[in-house]
This record gives sequence, C-alpha cells and structure tokens, in this order.
Amino acid sequence: MEKIRCLIIGSGPAGYTAAIYAGRANLAPVLYQGISPGGQLTTTTEIENFPGYPQGISGFDMMEDLKKQAEKFGTDIRHGIATAVDLSQPPYSITIDGEKTIQANALIIATGATAKYLGLSDEQKYMGMGVSACATCDGFFYRGKNVAVVGGGDTACEDAVYLSGICKKVYMIVRKNHLRASNIMQKRVFDKENIEVLFEHETLSLFGEGGLQGALLLKHRGKPTEEETAIVIDGFFLAIGHHPNSEIFKDYLELDETGYIKTLHGTPKTKIPGVFVAGDVGDPIYRQAITAAGSGCKAAIEAERYLIEKGL
Ligand code: NDP
Repeated sequence: MEKIRCLIIGSGPAGYTAAIYAGRANLAPVLYQGISPGGQLTTTTEIENFPGYPQGISGFDMMEDLKKQAEKFGTDIRHGIATAVDLSQPPYSITIDGEKTIQANALIIATGATAKYLGLSDEQKYMGMGVSACATCDGFFYRGKNVAVVGGGDTACEDAVYLSGICKKVYMIVRKNHLRASNIMQKRVFDKENIEVLFEHETLSLFGEGGLQGALLLKHRGKPTEEETAIVIDGFFLAIGHHPNSEIFKDYLELDETGYIKTLHGTPKTKIPGVFVAGDVGDPIYRQAITAAGSGCKAAIEAERYLIEKGL
C-alpha cells in the first residue's frame, strides 16, 4: 500500500495553498484534485477581490497559476476522488476512486463545497438541456436567448450580470422581497436593462418538449396577491448556495447542522491528531478565495508541526 507523508484532498485555493506550503516544507505532499479540478473558482468569471490583482483575474487563470506554484515546490498532483476514509487510527486510510487505498500520516481536507439545487424533479429532467448550476460554464450555450437565475446572493447577481452580456433577457427569481447580495453587486444588477428581478417568486416546475422552454412560478406565496405565472426561458441557472463536501468524513469528524466540518478553536485542527481542515468545507461564514487560501496555509503549517512532533 502506498504511504504518503502529507495528503491533501481538494484543488481549490485551500488545497493548492496547503500544497505550496507543504511542498516548501519538504513534506512531499500528494494532492488529489477531486471531482472538479481547480474547485469553484474555475466557474467564476472575474475575481476582483483577491489581493495582488488590481486588474482582476479570471478564476480559471488563478487556479492554473496556483497549480503551477504547487507543482514548482514538488507537489505530486493527481486526478482522483477520495471516496472513503478510515480515520480510526494513524496512518489514515483514504480510498481513491473506490479502488485504490493509500495511507497518509497527515491529512489535509480541502474538499470545498458543491452547488445546491432546489430539489425539483424537473431539474434532473432538464439537466444539461437547460438546467445548470454554472453560468460561466454554460452561459455561452444560451447566446441571444432568455434565461433565469435563481437566488438573491452575490453568486446569483454575478451570474445574472454575466449572462446579461450574452443573453437577450435574464430573469432573477428571488424568494424574498430583497436581495441578499452586497450593495455593489445589487447595483450592477439594477444597472442592467435586460435583467428583470422577480421578487417574492418561487419556482414550481419547469416545462418544455425536447428541452427547457419555460418555468412555472408562484408569486407572493400566501398573500392575497398570490398567483401562478410562467416565464419563457431556455436556460435555468441555480445560484442558491452550496453544501460542504464532507460526507465521507461524517463518521469520524464532527459536522455542524449543515455539514461543515467543525475545527478546534478557530484553528485547522480537528479532534483527530494529524487531520486538518482547510477552505469552504470547514467555513460556513466567509467562503472566500482569500480566506480559503489562508486556511490552507495554516493547515500545512499545522501538518508540518504535527509530523515533526511525531517524528514522521
Ligand atoms: P448565499 O448563501 O449568499 O445566497 C444564496 C441565495 O439563494 C440567497 O438569496 C437565498 O435566498 C437563495 N436561496 C437559497 N435556497 C433557496 C431556495 N431553496 N429557493 C430559492 N432561493 C434560495 O450564496 P452565494 O453562493 O450567493 O454566496 C456564497 C458566499 O460567497 C457569500 O458569502 C458571498 O458573499 C460570496 N460570494 C462573493 C462573490 C464576490 O465577492 N464577487 C461572488 C460570489 C459569492 P434568501 O436570501 O432568501 O436566503
């Protein structure tokens, strides 16, 4: 069985930053990239708030640079998904792609978070035929068409603005009577003439023959003005948040009620010595590229201390 000194699972800013630090500390890190190499930022358009990029940088380019930087310091970056773990005793066992099991002295969990869906059966029915959770990946397919974005947070606003540059018209389906997004993102939405925000609307179902043609919405639920309305759209983009990718760790680590891994006293440490958490999988609050990168750094420093202390 392969034995690894420092294993990192996940390839977002947390995973790659942990790899840069672990590599420079001579921990011979191995990093498994997971389901979406580069993580959530590869589905973002422009990153404007990462220090050091006054002109902004595309999420994809940033992740490519982080990957190169991790490789430069000796990280062994591999394709593969961690499908099971046994953290009952060190060295910890991690199964990759349901086939191969490896052992790690130190483990850094940086598995991030995944887009949420509403839970409508129609989302599955039209998946890839109108339904998407990634506007920047799939928006191009709806050039000149009408689309809808669900959600009222920063992601929804960012997606709506992005799509407004490609599509004819963009509806935002917002369940409350206000947007949760930051003021600057709200302003960008309201400045676009081809974005229409449908406040207090919920999606009941999607319809269409051979592909998505529209959505049935409920307006003003529970109010005297409640009514069903339909919008004609070719694309339906989910932007209602994410859930942490912590499922395989739940038997060993403590999770909060939404599944985020709990760490000890604001550090990347968990209750299991040698197992550390970095990035969105343990961060229900900040969820930013820069905070993820910072926690990746902390996790690698803690991993180095642990390995030295244990003489591993
Ligand atoms: P958020 O959790 O901030 O927002 C989710 C939105 O989806 C809310 O408007 C919420 O409505 C709505 N929603 C959730 N569940 C449902 C549902 N079942 N039906 C309908 N609507 C629903 O997630 P985001 O992904 O937008 O943002 C996550 C974090 O990332 C935030 O901290 C954000 O600031 C940050 N971010 C920053 C960006 C930037 O700075 N450029 C870009 C993108 C994200 P409600 O308000 O009613 O709860």
